[in-house]
Amino acid sequence: MQVIRLAERDGWTCWLCGGDIDPRLPSTSPAGATIDHLVPRSRGGSNDAPNLRLAHRRCNVRRGNHLPELQWPTDWPMLMTVHLWTALARLAPRPGRAEVVAMAPLPELADAAAAWAVERSEAFVPGGWESWTVADPAGPVAVWLRRPASSAPGRTGRPLVPDA
Ligand SMILES: [Zn+2]
Repeated sequence: MQVIRLAERDGWTCWLCGGDIDPRLPSTSPAGATIDHLVPRSRGGSNDAPNLRLAHRRCNVRRGNHLPELQWPTDWPMLMTVHLWTALARLAPRPGRAEVVAMAPLPELADAAAAWAVERSEAFVPGGWESWTVADPAGPVAVWLRRPASSAPGRTGRPLVPDA
């Protein structure tokens, strides 16, 4: 379903904040129209019309920190992970700054975690992310994440307390 058809159904209104949406703004604009899922797809929500709502991009993104997509895969036996959303909130506005976002017991797992962190970060704060791993001789492998220094500062919206 497209934005224009949702707007015909619901009007040019953001279902999250109740504010008007300017149809002339591109969907890449913070105040532009995006399609939000009432029940997140990760919780079984569908792409069918009854599950779709119009939302400002900024409101849609802000809600994103309550989605389980930003939780690390639970079947990975990581030694440590940070909450990715709060890491993005710190890193996105500061290109060039890096943080360790996970410690893995095995290099293969660290590589998978690095790829996952980049893919998820890009989905929520587009514009370029990179991740790499550094093995400690004693065993654990650190997974680093940053926005390249050459990239534009990004925004996550308000950094909120994650869901319990
Ligand atoms: Zn809104």
